[in-house]
Amino acid sequence: AHLDRIAAVDGQVNAFLHVDEEATLAQARAVDERRAAGEELGPLAGVPIAHKDVFTTVDMPTTAGSKILEGWQPPYDATVTRRLREAGLVILGKTNMDEFAMGSSTENSAYGTTHNPWDLSLIPGGSSGGSSAAVAAYEAPLSTGTDTGGSIRQPAAVTGIVGVKPTYGGSSRYGIIAFASSLDTPGPFARNVLDAALLHEAFSGHDPMDSTSVDRPVPPVVEAARRADVNGLRVGVVKEFAGEGAQAGVTARFTEAVELLESLGAKVVEVSCPHFTYALSAYYLIAPSEASSNLARFDAMRYGLRVGDDGTRSAEEVMALTRAEGFGPEVKRRIMLGTYALSSGYYDAYYGKAQQVRTLVSRDFDNAFEQVDVLVSPTTPTTAFPIGERADDPMAMYLADLYTIPANLTGNAAISVPVGLADGLPVGLQIMAPVLGDDRVYRVGAAVER
Ligand code: GLN
Repeated sequence: AHLDRIAAVDGQVNAFLHVDEEATLAQARAVDERRAAGEELGPLAGVPIAHKDVFTTVDMPTTAGSKILEGWQPPYDATVTRRLREAGLVILGKTNMDEFAMGSSTENSAYGTTHNPWDLSLIPGGSSGGSSAAVAAYEAPLSTGTDTGGSIRQPAAVTGIVGVKPTYGGSSRYGIIAFASSLDTPGPFARNVLDAALLHEAFSGHDPMDSTSVDRPVPPVVEAARRADVNGLRVGVVKEFAGEGAQAGVTARFTEAVELLESLGAKVVEVSCPHFTYALSAYYLIAPSEASSNLARFDAMRYGLRVGDDGTRSAEEVMALTRAEGFGPEVKRRIMLGTYALSSGYYDAYYGKAQQVRTLVSRDFDNAFEQVDVLVSPTTPTTAFPIGERADDPMAMYLADLYTIPANLTGNAAISVPVGLADGLPVGLQIMAPVLGDDRVYRVGAAVER
């Protein structure tokens, strides 16, 4: 049924970069065989899933939305991919994304823009916009994403679905094409909080292949989503993000969601996190710095595209030609920003300063969680914007992640759940919890989702 749905609508939505009907049906039959052979399979066995094209897959190409990786077939599965297969999920295909996960709209993909199923003239969010659109368009019931600065929560918010950024280190980065390694976090998309929790549980947990993976039990997210109770819970409204500068309808839905929490027995207080307003600026030094280092591996020798290798050019010339042709403009902008911020003489003023801001944001969270159990804010300042509107204005594009970035800088768990419409378009509520307090975002999310 999902393959039929993809065939019917994906020509307009463009959520998928790769779908293989035969391979999908073969995976589904293999799950049936495992079950027939008596294997105990989890609750998601046989459920189809759309997989972001940033995760390596041995049986499907993996491009990270970049021309430089066009046609590359990885020699191994990402840990998340492997765990999906072990749980019996059926991978329908790979979803579109901003090149190397840099963006908030999927307009930076080398393979065309994904369209928001609510209104095809609007962006589906990004960078995991193919994954959010696939679930919102009923092409898949579940999908995967990665969130470095908001790339799961923002697309979930603007397409009216649930998206979770787990605690950093709670889910493995092994086999994810790296953007900013100290921030990249894989997480689930679903149409409701319980489904997201089931997927979270299926692929999370310690992985010796990822040196920053946390060797602790997965928080009880499914139990928390089922519980869906906020009675007596202390909820902090982040004063600095309480809707200032946001679209009026977004602020209205946010206020209603907070009132709903209060009516369900939560104690709501205002909490000040004074450094959250500097998080965006710090992120745009730290993330590009890490990216400039991570993307050095695309040297025309090891992966994908190779341009001008005709026997007359040096390896360095081939590398330069390949990177000039293989990377899109946003990726080049990030490499330049990052290289500059890390240069000797600028390091202390930019990268070093940004790391200090990161510590201050972390202290804001620590102070806040002495007073409350979770923090809430809108997920994004606006609903989905028109395709093209911010394409030539990087600063306007970067603002889409104003509210989501603090949790990335510090590794905290956060969710976006749909809380109604503004001017006919979905609005998300962000719920943030302490590191390894992922169960709390599910518990509160399940209580307020609409
Ligand atoms: N939009 C942010 C950026 O462009 C975040 C992207 C992400 O989370 N991968 O960097």
